[in-house]
Amino acid sequence: MSSFSSLQLCPELQYTLESLGYVEPTRIQSLAIPHALDGKDLLAEAQTGSGKTAAFALPLIEQLSRSPLASGERPVRGLILTPTRELAIQVADNTLAYGRELGIRVVSIYGGVRYEDQIRRLKRGADILVATPGRLIEMLLHQTVMLDKLETLVLDEADRMLDLGFIEDIRKVISFMPDKRQTLLFSATLGGSIATLAKELLHNPVRVSATPSNTTVSSIKQRAYYIDNKDKSDILCYLVDGCHWSQTLVFTRTKKRTDEVAAYLQREGISAASLHGDRTQRERNAALQAFVQGDVRVLVATDVAARGLDIESLPQVINYDLPNQPEAYVHRIGRTGRAGKSGLAISFVAPDERRFLADICSLIGKEIPLMGVPTIEKGKLVDGPLLSQIWTKKPSGSGAENQRSDGQSRKPTRQKKAGNPKQTPVSKRSGSAAGSKATSPDDKAKAEGNNAGRRSIFQR
Ligand code: AMP
Repeated sequence: MSSFSSLQLCPELQYTLESLGYVEPTRIQSLAIPHALDGKDLLAEAQTGSGKTAAFALPLIEQLSRSPLASGERPVRGLILTPTRELAIQVADNTLAYGRELGIRVVSIYGGVRYEDQIRRLKRGADILVATPGRLIEMLLHQTVMLDKLETLVLDEADRMLDLGFIEDIRKVISFMPDKRQTLLFSATLGGSIATLAKELLHNPVRVSATPSNTTVSSIKQRAYYIDNKDKSDILCYLVDGCHWSQTLVFTRTKKRTDEVAAYLQREGISAASLHGDRTQRERNAALQAFVQGDVRVLVATDVAARGLDIESLPQVINYDLPNQPEAYVHRIGRTGRAGKSGLAISFVAPDERRFLADICSLIGKEIPLMGVPTIEKGKLVDGPLLSQIWTKKPSGSGAENQRSDGQSRKPTRQKKAGNPKQTPVSKRSGSAAGSKATSPDDKAKAEGNNAGRRSIFQR
């Protein structure tokens, strides 16, 4: 592994990295930074949590500082496109931190917040713009932002942008920038439509890969428990409460379910907030901030939160519902075990979700053994019995597999808080069990929070 000093970054950047506690570059940083500094186009495969933001932001900042413009000029010279608002905010914060000793101005623009405030910030000048495509196009069409002096374009989480249907928006944004530029494309996967996009946008790119695609980080302990839908909420409370977890990120498949699970936890005396694309940007920021600051113990989210969330040392992630797209699993559990720290990823697998687990295992090339309902002993999680034999059985849908080999039920009991309303399983109350037809997580417009997105919510 190289050191930052061998990467030919200026003393100000070296100093900043040292003060941030970065001792040595991560693998993607070692691989990508030298080529990016050489001015090459880059096709980089990197997982979330691998340090990819610094892999593109450091060379971008370094290049800007090497070729300062005449005083008074402050055009946008670097553009980082991200799929979601959360990621835009996080990437902008990190880039600002990396460039602070060099006085680099970073402005983020994304939907869901006041247009005028962003214009005001833009008017003061931006060296690097971090943007989601929809809001950026709006501004380009109104000529409130110009990209004619752009030197470097970064596409962050390009695979997610394609998933969200941003391809035409990307093309439109590119039509506003010079042909002669450097383009850095970062993606968790490089196959399929990403390869096509790369052909269209990149010129003789250098391809680097920090990990084989869709592998999960070995520092994350992965557990899958076979839990009937109607028992999921009880078991979630049991685990959070019994293991004294103070910061747990829970993923559900639909927005409605996200609110229901958060409400259930609250009724059970466990502080929780929900995060999904139907909440306003202000609500989303508040929920995230409360979770990061430790004001709420559980954040229940749809996949909109699966990318771009960087919470220092998040200890565990729970897939309350398994995602029906196996790639989403990799991104969800990538919220824990970041930057080499250990993490725990638990999946609740209902009878009708077993096929999703099989898809995930084949994608990541690793078997995640399916076990019975876990118990807690002395505040520690104890796995249920191995249930691998159920793979050969037809799904019963009865949850009868959640039995110990001695025949006793493993369903845990939890002391209910005095005054709590009678507990009713979420799936019964709402009728929106995990097995019901999955709605798409958060669509393109919701991810960005643009006006079209808001309209479609009201029209529904
Ligand atoms: P990212 O993949 O860019 O979201 O980064 C994941 C986390 O790793 C962030 O909290 C970064 O601050 C941190 N990080 C990035 N590069 C390094 C490094 N070289 N050493 C230590 N931490 C890092």
